[in-house]
Amino acid sequence: MSSLSVITPFDVETIRQDFPALHQMVHGKPLVYFDNAATSQKPSLVIDRIRKYYERDNSNIHRGVHYLSQQATEMYEEARKKIQTLINARQSYEVLFTKGTTEGINLIAYSFGQKWIKPGDEIIVSALEHHSNIVPWQMMCERTGAQLRVIPMNDAAELDMEAYAGLLNERTRLVATVWISNALGTINPVAEMIRMAHERNIPVMLDGAQALPHMQVDVQALDVDFLTFSGHKMFGPTGIGVLYGKEKWLEEMPPFMGGGDMIEKVSFEKTTYNELPHKFEAGTPHIEGGIGLGAAVDYIQSIGYEAIGKWEADLLQYGTEQLLTHFDDIRIVGTAAHKASVISFLVGDIHPYDTGTILDQLGIAVRTGHHCTQPIMTRLGIPGTVRASFAFYNTREEIDRMISGIRQVKKMFKS
Ligand code: PMP
Repeated sequence: MSSLSVITPFDVETIRQDFPALHQMVHGKPLVYFDNAATSQKPSLVIDRIRKYYERDNSNIHRGVHYLSQQATEMYEEARKKIQTLINARQSYEVLFTKGTTEGINLIAYSFGQKWIKPGDEIIVSALEHHSNIVPWQMMCERTGAQLRVIPMNDAAELDMEAYAGLLNERTRLVATVWISNALGTINPVAEMIRMAHERNIPVMLDGAQALPHMQVDVQALDVDFLTFSGHKMFGPTGIGVLYGKEKWLEEMPPFMGGGDMIEKVSFEKTTYNELPHKFEAGTPHIEGGIGLGAAVDYIQSIGYEAIGKWEADLLQYGTEQLLTHFDDIRIVGTAAHKASVISFLVGDIHPYDTGTILDQLGIAVRTGHHCTQPIMTRLGIPGTVRASFAFYNTREEIDRMISGIRQVKKMFKS
């Protein structure tokens, strides 16, 4: 691991050695893992730290005077500080642990909604949202009588910024937008979107699920009000995620769930709540998840976002070029000027499911379908796509394997 911090230039073969799951055969072929937007593989550092936690440090946190409890508490809170540093939050208590992006968005929709949303108010989302940044707001609108407004997109899957400017008005209470589209890879101009909303004193929540695995995030530089993301997409464990919120909002918002740890004093007549971040962390948390996520942060930082960004930009460019050069009936879905390392595509008139199934037989893991973004597919008039999403441990050779796999798909379907 320590050797990684001195790797220059980017040594992908050494990095791949850190990921045990990449070195297996699937259907008798070496695995090509191109489903990173759904979840990433985990480095040994993360796996080992979780194992060590259970072998040595396992104990419930925050309430124990004994040694193990203090050890576990320290490790968990240290992980919170690592995330604080990673995203440059002003305070560690602005970093709340959640189950993942989905829970973070539901927390805001519930608590922010309860505190500040009235009938007739408006929430803005974008045409590029994952279902998890649509449904919680619809549920909130049903509870409060607020309305959902949607920023439209063009055929390249870029948001219409003029339309966005037109949607911001005195009824808008919150803008909640995806940063990077999981389905198509579009990187939204979030700094500009935040600036425009703040001109009208409207807070902004970013769904950063696809941002943290790929790029440096600085919540203070962006001045973003809320940011949600998931551990499992950034080389950490499943079931753990983060909601960052500015102190001024979190202090005022009511708790999302009640239970142990989130209280200051309980009687049958009245309960008072604990301070941040505990007010929003009811019950025994995902302790090893938090600790494992801390290890994932260490790992990402040992490689560095600059190196990650360069390598992935090459994979995106190479993959796009290869698809378009080798096949005259490939349609790349999502051609935004600014994209992350996600290529969504269709092969002739072959159903994405068929393409994905045959690629799987060749050991190549891609995702097919609507990618939890049905409104995008409806807008583009397609049932779904084949999606290859790359991480920094993927290679050009793996893309070549996918290209020859697609050739076989076409042969089988005589496309
Ligand atoms: N938003 C985006 C952009 C995503 O890609 C995902 C996961 N595919 C989510 C939200 C939901 O994340 P999770 O399932 O980890 O809560």
